[in-house]
Amino acid sequence: MDMIGFIGLGRMGRPMASNLCRKGFRLVVHDVNRQAVDELESLQARGAANAAQVAAESGIIVTMLPNSAIVSEVVAGRGGVIENAKPGSLIMDMSTVSPETTDAVARLAAAKGIGFVDAPVGRLAEHADRGESLFMVGGTPEDFARVKPLLEGMGTTIHHCGPAGSGTRTKLVNNFLAVSLCQMNAEALALSQRFGLNLEKTLEVLHGTTATNGQLKINWPNKVLKGDTTPGFTIDLAHKDLSLIVDSANAARVPMPMAAAAREAFSTARAAGFGSQDFSAMVDALCTIAGIEKPRLKG
Ligand code: NAD
Repeated sequence: MDMIGFIGLGRMGRPMASNLCRKGFRLVVHDVNRQAVDELESLQARGAANAAQVAAESGIIVTMLPNSAIVSEVVAGRGGVIENAKPGSLIMDMSTVSPETTDAVARLAAAKGIGFVDAPVGRLAEHADRGESLFMVGGTPEDFARVKPLLEGMGTTIHHCGPAGSGTRTKLVNNFLAVSLCQMNAEALALSQRFGLNLEKTLEVLHGTTATNGQLKINWPNKVLKGDTTPGFTIDLAHKDLSLIVDSANAARVPMPMAAAAREAFSTARAAGFGSQDFSAMVDALCTIAGIEKPRLKG
């Protein structure tokens, strides 16, 4: 079995790598946060000092990093994964990054005889904890077959979307809806609060019509509406995704006025100090700005 390298052990990478360890995969891991590495070592993973060491020791190298700049640096930069990976090895980037980043990394890897798969992750952090994530995969059929057992160790639903780059692009389409819905929900519940309506009854009505959505039904009752705004998925990362979406749409000449408006609503929430909170806390940001009581479920 390939040795699996795993770089980026944050809110998502930690449970994903942990689930692989528990399922018997052999892992060598790295994160700039030493505490995150210690946690994985307690599950029998081997800690590595840097990305170069992970690359040199692995057959498949997984990256789960915050953004395009960091993925470019860690994977394609000096002393990074591509420079140190063995020919015939394969990189699977699971971060949410720009299509340009994915395409550039895929090209560089191919030039060195290294396989590449983009496999961004759908669903919530709590699904990653339970090994119930959804993956959107771009890559050749051969590379897809090689990473499939790993994906089965971290999630329940795997979609092969097409060649390298199609996972990242599918993720942006998905996150446009998933993230923008938070702003729509925030406005709806702020208005409901201002009207003095009963929150439980309002939600009952919304869930009984086409107004309902996955955020309102699955994420919000478990997070902001019960007063838990720890991330999850931060408002900062959601803002990053909306920026990727607006920029990619502009480049492709697809007007997306809703995405642009949602991005600026997230900018406002960040400016108001909510950037490190769960993206469901968009309603707290709006209510705080408008002087409205935050919506909370009773009991
Ligand atoms: P996070 O900020 O919690 O974790 C990122 C990890 O990368 C941190 O542990 C950090 O220390 C590490 N890191 C940063 N720079 C590094 C470097 N140079 N070398 C090694 N490690 C480094 O973020 P997250 O929530 O785990 O998200 C990771 C990616 O997954 C993002 O692209 C995000 O958009 C995407 N994503 C997140 C969720 C979610 O619900 N949190 C869901 C799907 C996709």
